[in-house]
Amino acid sequence: MRALVARAPGAPLRVEEIRLPAPGPGELRVRVRAAGVCHSDLSMVNGTLAPAYPLVLGHEAAGVVVEAGPGAAVPVGTQVVLNWAPACRRCWHCRHGEPWLCAANTAPAVPRGETADGEALHVTLGLGAFAEEVVVPEAAVVAVPDDLPPERAALLGCAVLTGTGAVRNTARVAAGESVAVIGLGGVGLSVLTAARAAGAAPIVAVDVAEAKRGLALAAGATHFLAPDDRLSKEIRALTEGRGVDHAFECVGRAATIRTAWRLTRRGGAVTVVGMGGKDDLVSLSALDIFHSARTLRSSVYGSSDPDREVPGLAREVGDGTLDLTPLISGLVTLDEAPEAFDRLARGEGARWVVTFPD
Ligand SMILES: [Zn+2]
Ligand SMILES: [Zn+2]
Repeated sequence: MRALVARAPGAPLRVEEIRLPAPGPGELRVRVRAAGVCHSDLSMVNGTLAPAYPLVLGHEAAGVVVEAGPGAAVPVGTQVVLNWAPACRRCWHCRHGEPWLCAANTAPAVPRGETADGEALHVTLGLGAFAEEVVVPEAAVVAVPDDLPPERAALLGCAVLTGTGAVRNTARVAAGESVAVIGLGGVGLSVLTAARAAGAAPIVAVDVAEAKRGLALAAGATHFLAPDDRLSKEIRALTEGRGVDHAFECVGRAATIRTAWRLTRRGGAVTVVGMGGKDDLVSLSALDIFHSARTLRSSVYGSSDPDREVPGLAREVGDGTLDLTPLISGLVTLDEAPEAFDRLARGEGARWVVTFPD
C-alpha cells in the first residue's frame, strides 16, 4: 500500500510502497479516508524535531476500521478519529486527570512496518496517517458517527481538539473576556472558532500574512491585525488600555511568545499552543514576571481527553454549533500531499486535507 514517506530532514517527500504488519492483540487496521496536513508534520521534516527515518508522516486523520486483531472490540466498519496521544490510564498523569501528559506518549516516531526494500519503517506519533491504511492500538481510535464527513472528522484528531481544548480546558475563556490569537494555521483558526463559541469579545487575530484576514474573520475574529510596531497600541485601544485577558500563541517561537506576553493585561494569561524548538529561548525579566502577574503556560493536545471530547466535538460539528468550513482550504490526493506541505510552509491557507478514494 502507498504512504507519504520522509527519508531525511529536508529531503523531498515521496509517496512510496510500504508494508505494515497485520493487527496484533488489541490492535486495529484502519483504512484512512482523510488526513490533514498539520504543522507538527512539517516539524518532523524541517529540523524542528529529530524523529527516526524513514518515516510515514501524518497524525490528524479519520478512517474506517477494516480488521480487528485478537481481543480488539471496535467493530469492523466503525468510522474512527485517530488519537496521537492514547492514554495508558495507568501512569501518574493518567490517574491524576491529565491523560494528555500520559507518560507512555513521548516518541515522535514509533517503529512499525517496512519499506518496499525491507528497511525498518517508523510512523509519526504512532500513527503515520498519510497512508492508505494504518495499524494502531485500539486505544488510538475514537469512534464517531458514520455520517460525519471524513475531512471534518480528521481535523477533530489534532487541530480542532487542540484549539478548542486550549480555549475551554487550558485557558477556560469566559463570555465577555478579550482574546488575542497569534498565528492562524489550523490550530489558530480553531482557537478563534472556540473563542467565538465561548462568547469572548473582542477576538483579535494576529498574523504576518494579510491573506489570512478573510479566514480569520470567517473563523470568529472580530479584528485582524498585523504583528508590527503598532500592534501593542492597537490591542490596548481595543481593551480600554489594559491588554487582552487571554493571548494564545499558535506559532511555537520565542519571538511570538514574547509578543503574546506583551499583549496580555496584568493578571492575564498567555497560553502557548505552538510547539517550538529546544534552542529558541524566551527571555522575560524577573521584574516583568513579578509585576505583570501574568500566567504563562502551555496547552498540550488541548489539555483534553480525546476519548471523552472527540465524540462531543463530533456532535457539535453535526448539529452546526462548530463550523469547520473556514478551516478547510482544500482537499488533495496523496500524490499532491508534498505540494500541500510546501503551501503550509509558505503559510498559505488553513488546512489542506488529503483524502483517499473509497
Ligand atoms: Zn497536529
Ligand atoms: Zn498514562
